[in-house]
Amino acid sequence: MNARLFPLFVDLRGRAVVVVGGGAIAARKIERLLAAGARVRVVAPDLHRDVRALVDTRRVAHRAEGFRAALLDDAWLAIAATDDDVVNRAVAHAAGERRILVNVVDDAQLSSIQLPAVVERGDVQVAISSGGGAPMLARRLRERLESLLDESLGTLAELLTRHRRRIRASIPETGARRRWFDALLDRIAPNLRLRGSLAAAERDLLASLDDAPMPRAGSVILVGAGPGDPGLLTLRGLRALNEADVIVHDRLIGDVLTLARRDALMIDVGKRVGDRADAQARIHAILLEHARAGRRVVRLKGGDPFVFGRGGEELEFLRAHGIACEVVPGITAALACAAHAGIPLTHREHAQSLRLVTAHAKDSLDTLDWRALAAERQTLAVYMGVSALERLRARLLAHGRSADTPFALVENGARAQQRVIVGTLADLPERAHAENVRAPALLILGEVAALATPLHWFGAPPIARSQPLALSDAA
Ligand code: SAH
Repeated sequence: MNARLFPLFVDLRGRAVVVVGGGAIAARKIERLLAAGARVRVVAPDLHRDVRALVDTRRVAHRAEGFRAALLDDAWLAIAATDDDVVNRAVAHAAGERRILVNVVDDAQLSSIQLPAVVERGDVQVAISSGGGAPMLARRLRERLESLLDESLGTLAELLTRHRRRIRASIPETGARRRWFDALLDRIAPNLRLRGSLAAAERDLLASLDDAPMPRAGSVILVGAGPGDPGLLTLRGLRALNEADVIVHDRLIGDVLTLARRDALMIDVGKRVGDRADAQARIHAILLEHARAGRRVVRLKGGDPFVFGRGGEELEFLRAHGIACEVVPGITAALACAAHAGIPLTHREHAQSLRLVTAHAKDSLDTLDWRALAAERQTLAVYMGVSALERLRARLLAHGRSADTPFALVENGARAQQRVIVGTLADLPERAHAENVRAPALLILGEVAALATPLHWFGAPPIARSQPLALSDAA
């Protein structure tokens, strides 16, 4: 069997470490050493400005000279970070003679230790090694872990460290302690980012040591799913989906659900409560029921939960009932559609402001400030507008918006079947009708919409009217 490297976490507080070389790479190693409390001495004739700054503020000692073996005499560890192979070899050799561990940057052969790629969350550190042969792979793995591990891990470690003695005294047997610990983590870990959750976790920990475990507190996380492409979900949203017991979602969520925990209970409220008048109240009731039963509930909503998604009402309701809540933003349809249609929503020359508007029902159209909406050099992103296009055009024209104003209608934005229909305000409803535009579709109206054709990059090219509008088309 091939011998592997032996992983080791070293307490360097107050211990002398010699770094040979004063360049940019040395600077990064020195920062890591200082974070571990090492006493760092740099040996180098010249210093990179970052190292110079550390020397000037006396955080690092400096010997402005060439390397000599005797400089390692009192060191616990040596790092060679020069670009001179002869010097690096000399450092490795001198360290070997003194039985000091040495790392030669980018040279696994000369090194007796490797510095791993590290993911840190407070005192928790995950160190990754590829054995020294494939540092790129280790770095890549590190990036994956960075996205998987929650910031609250550090908080959790701190909490457990604080009560370590007490935990061991109360539950001396290792197996029992492990079971206690697993149960505790299941209860507290998913909520640790929520408001007031650290104090609650601590109370739970102490109560369960006194043999009076608290029931797991349920929670609801409102998660924005983005426009339907799983790649446009946030990492925090992904984590929430991975940890959910129950996922309450709308119909239009696309492939995002494939990312959820397999054994989570899925409730399609789009289907279940449909268009009934009390739909929203019934969604509230479902969320409350599961949270009260101690479950981790994810309320998954298309786009962003706070943009025309009634997420605000859900949050108000849950807070009023004392449920712990969190909100994870999502990429709203206006942003997703604009990006995937090549339309910058603001533009130094064409649009200085952006309005998100909904044109759902007749009354919501009547309450809008049409004079402001008809102003030039701004972009309107109109949600839920497919059925209201005629009224929209009439009002905008009546308030002075030019009939030449470009539009782009984005159907199924950011999805494989995306269609973009372009034209001008003059024939907007006719074009939508002729192309049989279906929900979900978002209207982008304003000077910037003209960029959809030159800047197209995703999916099918934009569809423009090929012939001048014939009289029969308008009929
Ligand atoms: N909270 C959501 C919006 C819900 S309202 C968000 O932030 O995106 C629903 C409307 O959003 C639809 O009628 C449509 O106008 C728009 N929409 C949502 N997803 C869309 C998509 N993939 N393509 C085009 N429009 C979309």
